[in-house]
Amino acid sequence: MTIQTIIKKAMKRLELEGKLLTPDYYSEAFCKEAKVAGMDIEDCSHIQKYTSSLNPDFQKELKQYRIKTIHEFIRFLVSKLNRTNQSMCSASLEAQLNFSKRILQVIGVLHNKEASEIAKKSIVMLSDNPSVAQVDNFRQHWVNFITSYDDSFLISLGLKDKEDLKKSILALDMSNLSSGELTNKDQAHLSKLASLLVSSFVPSIASSVNDKIATLSQKIKKNPELLSSASIEEEIKQAIMLRIALDKESVKEMIESLDGVLDKLSLRLIEMIERSDSSTVEIQNIKKELESHNEESEDAKINFKVAHKKLYTLALALEENTKSLSRDLQDHSGEVKVLSKKIKKLEAELAKVKQESKEDFLTKLYNKRALDEFMNVKEAEFERYGRNFSIIMFDIDFFKKVNDTFGHDAGDAVLGALASILKKEARSVDIVGRFGGEEFMAILSETDTKGGAIFAEKVRKHVQKARFMYKGKRIKVTVSSGVSERKTQTSLAAVVKSADDRLYKAKESGRNRVVYK
Ligand code: GH3
Ligand code: MG
Ligand code: MG
Repeated sequence: MTIQTIIKKAMKRLELEGKLLTPDYYSEAFCKEAKVAGMDIEDCSHIQKYTSSLNPDFQKELKQYRIKTIHEFIRFLVSKLNRTNQSMCSASLEAQLNFSKRILQVIGVLHNKEASEIAKKSIVMLSDNPSVAQVDNFRQHWVNFITSYDDSFLISLGLKDKEDLKKSILALDMSNLSSGELTNKDQAHLSKLASLLVSSFVPSIASSVNDKIATLSQKIKKNPELLSSASIEEEIKQAIMLRIALDKESVKEMIESLDGVLDKLSLRLIEMIERSDSSTVEIQNIKKELESHNEESEDAKINFKVAHKKLYTLALALEENTKSLSRDLQDHSGEVKVLSKKIKKLEAELAKVKQESKEDFLTKLYNKRALDEFMNVKEAEFERYGRNFSIIMFDIDFFKKVNDTFGHDAGDAVLGALASILKKEARSVDIVGRFGGEEFMAILSETDTKGGAIFAEKVRKHVQKARFMYKGKRIKVTVSSGVSERKTQTSLAAVVKSADDRLYKAKESGRNRVVYK
């Protein structure tokens, strides 16, 4: 079919459909006839050329409205433009901007310093015709704020209803606090604290308290609220010093009186020995006398009477002597009992102080002094029984950076968390301690380098996997270690040095690893 035939058919179609010969109707009819004739006319596919670059939603709409001609397409676009006119857009944007500013003003007056500051800065930013990047930057500030925001402290204050803070706070009866009075709960707590404190004033060795301590104790007991005032601090310090002085004085007295008792006892003993000597001499004399008179039967009766009398007197004297001796002993045994009780108490206190002196204040693991003691014990066991042991030195990687980035408190928290991991991984016979700073040591009995390396590797993996969190921030921590055993070294010092050298190697070769060769 030729173009001329299609043109003719198109005119006929228009005539049949009763349409005017306008360009639009004509092109519509022409394209329909061309399609029927199976002819591919470029002008007829014009509309697809434009519509194919529209987004899918628009394309769907075009289909829905059966838009086929350029003319219809333009009409469609015009109506779209009318609906999304520029002024409407900017009015909506302005409304949203004002709305955001109002919200920010509200946040600005809320009781959170950080949020309030970001809110104020955000208002300034929004008022200054910001770029998209600037807005996005502030969006990030808000994201950071909400990620690190932690209101768990409210729970620790006893506030259960976070939805209505005011109600919860009023329920806490804070009004009493602000007027200087304490709640019943606080008062009960302070009373408990006061009685604990007062009982700690009582000397553990001296038998009585000093007047000053007694007066202060009464004062605090009667009025526990005093503990919340700063002025009492100095008085408490002085009372504690007095308590210590009293105990010291008492120990001195005890030792002196113990000396006295021993002196008396030894005097008694010497006296007794001397007396018993003289008694034996006397008895022997009488015995001799009795023997010498044994055969002379005539005088025997008379002499026996004399000897009997002498013996009786002697027995009485001995009885009396023994009684007074046992009386003395009884008297002093009371004294000795009291003393030995106090000595036991002193020994227990000494043991406690000894225990405390072995503990690292921050991690509660053994401290360096205790580790040194344990190492010496293990060394003695090795020398005597040939029992092998291994030593592992651990050192946190880039710990300075943890302090510098998150602060010293975060560093301390990491040290505590690492200590728990070491404790968890160690068996009950293993010894773990803080060697100093961010260095830790494990002493493993009856364990060779291989066994030590297995332990060190377990710790390394545990640390790597652990989530060290501080104030909602995750701190990545790794640890390096060096392992050595006693058997293959020449001395205890050599084991420590070799563990240390291997730790250094672990650091040199990239950290977060165990070196045992
Ligand atoms: P490396 O991987 O080489 O071991 O690097 P590092 O940063 O861990 O090593 P460095 O020895 O340079 O730094 C150790 C840091 O440990 C320095 C010190 O301030 C810190 N540190 C030591 N003791 C404590 C402590 O008790 N608490 C805290 N927070 N930091 C400590
Ligand atoms: Mg170090
Ligand atoms: Mg380190």
